[in-house]
Amino acid sequence: MFRKVLVANRGEIALRIVRTCAEMDVCTVAIHSTVDADRLSVQYADQALCIGNAPAAESYLNMETVVSAALCTECDAVHPGFGFLSENADFAQMCEDAGLTFIGPSPRAIRMLGDKAAARALVAECGVPVVPGSQGIVCDVDTARRAADQVGYPVLIKASAGGGGRGMRRADDAEGLVAAFDTARSEALACFGDDAVYVEKLIEHPRHVEIQILADSFGHVVHLGERECSIQRNNQKLVEESPSPALDDSMRSAMGAAAVRIAQSAGYTGAGTVEFVVAGSCFYFIEMNARIQVEHPVTEMRCGLDLVREQLCIAAGLPLRFEQDDIALRGHAIECRIIAEDPRNNFRPSPGSVGFLHFPGGNGVRVDSDLYAGSTVSPFYDSMIAKVIVCAPTRLEAVRKMRRALEETVVEGVSTNLDLALLIMFNGDFLKGSYHTGFIGQNLGQLLDFDDVVCRLDSEEAVR
Ligand code: ADP
Repeated sequence: MFRKVLVANRGEIALRIVRTCAEMDVCTVAIHSTVDADRLSVQYADQALCIGNAPAAESYLNMETVVSAALCTECDAVHPGFGFLSENADFAQMCEDAGLTFIGPSPRAIRMLGDKAAARALVAECGVPVVPGSQGIVCDVDTARRAADQVGYPVLIKASAGGGGRGMRRADDAEGLVAAFDTARSEALACFGDDAVYVEKLIEHPRHVEIQILADSFGHVVHLGERECSIQRNNQKLVEESPSPALDDSMRSAMGAAAVRIAQSAGYTGAGTVEFVVAGSCFYFIEMNARIQVEHPVTEMRCGLDLVREQLCIAAGLPLRFEQDDIALRGHAIECRIIAEDPRNNFRPSPGSVGFLHFPGGNGVRVDSDLYAGSTVSPFYDSMIAKVIVCAPTRLEAVRKMRRALEETVVEGVSTNLDLALLIMFNGDFLKGSYHTGFIGQNLGQLLDFDDVVCRLDSEEAVR
């Protein structure tokens, strides 16, 4: 096992990694920007190093500085967390070249999966359905138009290097395609430094369902079931649950097997997620995320594994200690992302200083957060401040546990989406498990109307 790991991230995921390392008797080094010196991950790590100014480009994204921080503190491995450098193949390569183990897949696998157009081709070769679309990158608007004519409107123009819904534009007809093509390309260039785009059929009212996998360096791959992530705002996930109310057993095992096949043919190692859109009884691959994901605790609550521990073991060259049949998924888990933002003001981020703070506890409730009273929600970084995760024997019990947990949560000093999360837990369609990725867009006005809560008992009747 590693002696010392550099945690190349910040916020709750940095703390999450520091905690698991401590439990494994592995020392940690926290790197931080000038405004992050008082984060909990920095306080709990064995060592800390300031690596630059607040803008991520001058600290957490500065590859040379991160690698030299690992070398000068005598680390033998680097955990990238999610976001920042986690899916940067050049960074993974730079770590390997410096003699550091990158806790994640190989640079080759990251590079291939990061190129979404190439990943679609690989997946199609495995016999897994991909969303109908262009054959690879489209370089000009005429090629995009031909691809769109073939699959039929509406379509999405998507950045090949994209993610988080950025560099993605909808076109409803040939006229709209020109504008969508140009905007997607320029956004892709601005966000990812790469203007390559491809065309994909827009699946109307789909669900987003993803499969968590673990793969060791001996070719063993297992899946840990699915996460349903269709409650999204602006293509970003807000609430995740497992199991998905949309899947029956045969679809569940088909998607699990597909995810394992994809990981095997990509030569993937580590923890990863294969994302699908689901429409009725059909599922289509959209992308594979080559990292640990924000919503991984939903899976941990059901399978009892610590995925960060598994990442470290795999990166240290150990074989998986279990096979597919050993994986037992129990109960129903839900996660709500608590974000410092104002849902009544177009989800505008709400940075500031946190006053009184109280997080919930009790049986089956987990909170992942590095916030404490007096800490700051910085305008420089992502505004997610906590994840509240619950697990209970049935879905209705999990929903009730989440309501109780959210009702106990108090975050003063910044605006948050706590009310919205709570109201989702009372929404009739959510309770029936009958929702798709357009849920927030269609229901926001009604959700923010507190009177809706009186529907709660009726809705519960519906779910029984
Ligand atoms: P990520 O945010 O995980 O990097 P994407 O940017 O590819 O993933 O997609 C973000 C969201 O956009 C998905 O969760 C899904 O809701 C939606 N989406 C992506 N592709 C399609 C599609 N072809 N049809 C309908 N919705 C899609």
